[in-house]
Amino acid sequence: MAVHSCKDAVLHERGEVLKGDGTPYRVYTPYSKAWHRLEKPAPLPRVRAIHTPKGIASLEPPTLATWNLPDPEADVIEPGERAARDRMRAALDGPLHRYSEDRDIPGGQTTSRLSQDLRLGLISIRELFAKADERARAARTAEERKAFQTYINELAWREFYMQILYHFPEVLEHEFNADYRALKWSYDDDALGRWKAGETGFPIVDAGMRQLRATGFMHNRVRMITAMFLTKDLHLDWRLGEEYFMQQLTDGEIASNNGGWQWSAGTGADAAPYFRIQNPWSQTKRFDTHGDYIKAWVPELKDVPAKKFLNPPEDGKPIAKGYPAPIVDHAEAREKTLAMFKAAK
Ligand code: FAD
Repeated sequence: MAVHSCKDAVLHERGEVLKGDGTPYRVYTPYSKAWHRLEKPAPLPRVRAIHTPKGIASLEPPTLATWNLPDPEADVIEPGERAARDRMRAALDGPLHRYSEDRDIPGGQTTSRLSQDLRLGLISIRELFAKADERARAARTAEERKAFQTYINELAWREFYMQILYHFPEVLEHEFNADYRALKWSYDDDALGRWKAGETGFPIVDAGMRQLRATGFMHNRVRMITAMFLTKDLHLDWRLGEEYFMQQLTDGEIASNNGGWQWSAGTGADAAPYFRIQNPWSQTKRFDTHGDYIKAWVPELKDVPAKKFLNPPEDGKPIAKGYPAPIVDHAEAREKTLAMFKAAK
């Protein structure tokens, strides 16, 4: 039997966006410039019938319980193509108009929430791109145009990481940046368990980890904060976090997950330089100023004034009954990270 492969999950596949000398890009900005220059394939008409080969036995479709992942109790987003199409419409008519200003705010609906639909093929990337591009062209204000263009840039990030995985498959095992393969990561089951459970005493980290466990989703800004916390505050191996996210996320996708983890760990393609270490307290001040996101996911902190989420407790004591004190001192952890990276180089 002949097997034919065709481009489906991406606008531009592995060999389409290459440097002038035919080698792959390792850095996002020049990749995205080349990606934007290429003409995008138009959406195809609706498929009326699919002729499947005869004589192939069907298996029962797996359910969440098949793998016991994510938590079968998780309140996951509504599945199915109809729900995905409704989400796409709602995103295009709603939050995407303010995407460049709001997308980093984790409390509330500020992003498209389409990652699992793109991951599982419930919506077409060609259709999503065509619609977002149409909105960018028809925008009445410069802000609105920028919003849709910023959104399209995120679709390019998705394809950037896919081509990184194709051209540099070693990223699954090793740091993309070979300078950092000698890094001495730690292994500590207790710290890892507290990170997974959302019991680190850092409210923004705990909110993210609890959102993940409860819904199989975490907002992008908080993915970065929790990933940097695991690697640069707890100094645990990024592969431990990558594996846990992959188990829990409904949008779990090897290329973006690996790319996001290596970016946060400071070891990846076009990663944050290792000395730029996000401070979870000041990240909270910028992106969850009123504590809406934290209060939504950490019930012990519901009645605590939001200003207490912006700095470590002065006396080092827990800020609410039943909620732990911070398990590390961020300033000390930061120094240790800098020393770790310097030693590896
Ligand atoms: P929107 O902000 O609405 O973005 C639109 C689409 O662009 C997304 O649906 C997604 O397909 C793509 N996209 C957005 N940001 C990124 C990005 N940084 N990298 C690659 N694609 C992006 N995304 C996944 O799809 N699967 C993963 O397993 C995954 N793991 C991640 C792990 C870490 C540590 C980090 C920092 C990021 C990860 N991301 C992953 C990227 C990003 O967090 C999610 O795509 C985004 O939060 C999904 O929400 P959304 O659909 O509302 O995004």
